[in-house]
Amino acid sequence: MPALAKAQLKQPLLSENDLKRVSDHVYVIEGFPNVAIVVGIRATLVVDTGLGERNGVTVMHAEQKLAKSPILYLTTTHYHSEHTTGEQAFPASAIIIRNTVQQEEMNKSVGAHMDAFRKMSAQNLDLLQNVKFRPPDVLFDREAKLDLGGVTARLFYVGPAHTKGDELIFVEEDSVLIPGDIVQKNIFPIMPNADASLKGWLAILDQVEALHPKFIVPDHGPAIVDASQIGVVRTYFLALQARALDLKKQGVSAEDAGKTITAELKAKYPDWPNPNNVAGEVLRVYEQSQ
Ligand SMILES: [Zn+2]
Repeated sequence: MPALAKAQLKQPLLSENDLKRVSDHVYVIEGFPNVAIVVGIRATLVVDTGLGERNGVTVMHAEQKLAKSPILYLTTTHYHSEHTTGEQAFPASAIIIRNTVQQEEMNKSVGAHMDAFRKMSAQNLDLLQNVKFRPPDVLFDREAKLDLGGVTARLFYVGPAHTKGDELIFVEEDSVLIPGDIVQKNIFPIMPNADASLKGWLAILDQVEALHPKFIVPDHGPAIVDASQIGVVRTYFLALQARALDLKKQGVSAEDAGKTITAELKAKYPDWPNPNNVAGEVLRVYEQSQ
C-alpha cells in the first residue's frame, strides 16, 4: 500500500545515518522530528531533543562527532514531546535555553502532551518512560544571541502560532532558518488547540520572509527546503481562512465546515499526512474571526 505508507509521518526513532549537512555550520538529523545541530568553534547548539531519552542519546552521539568544543547549548522550538523529552540524555553541563513563554507553557502542559503520545503506540509508551526535566539555565523574553564561534545563532520568540511559546532560530552567517513547525513542506499544519493563533502564524511568516533565508530546516517533513516555502504556507492558510469564513458566513457550523474543507484539501493534497489536522485549523478560524 504505497499511498498509505507515503501518508505516514516518520517514525520516532532517530538514526545517525540520517544526518545531513545543510550548510557550513548547520547539520540536521532527518526524522521525527528533524533535529538541527549548529557547530561553532566555541560552542555547539542543538535544536530539539527527539522523543524520550533513547532519541536524546542518538542526538548526543551525533553532536559529539560534530562538536569542536565541549560547550553545548540546547534549545527547543516548542514544548511538544518529540521536541523536548530527550533532554535527560544531555550532560548536566549542557546549557538549556528557551523563551519564558515556552517554559511556562511546558511546565503547565507537557505532562498532558506526553500522556497523549503514550496512548498513540507501544513504542511511544516505551520511549516516554521516566522522562525527567531540569530547570533551564537561561530564559529569554524576545531574543537571545548565541556566539558559537565563527557562527551566530539568534533565538527568537515572536508570539503564538502553533503553540504559545514557539521559538525560531536564525543562523546568521549561513542564512539558515530553523522555524519549528511554522514552515514545513507537504504536511498539513497543526493548530492543536485554542492557544494556536492564525494571526500570529501569518505575522511570523512575514517576519521570517524578511530574513531571506537561504535554507529552511523545518521540524517535520523534508529537512531542507528553500525560502519559497514561506509563501506556500501563507497561501495555504489564506485560502483555508477565506474558505472557512465563507462557510461561516453561510451559517455552516464549525464542525461541518471542518469536514467539508478536510475533504476538499485531502483531494487537493492526497499525499500529505495527517489531513485530520485541517478541522482544527478551520475551528481556529471560526474562533478567531470576530
Ligand atoms: Zn508540535
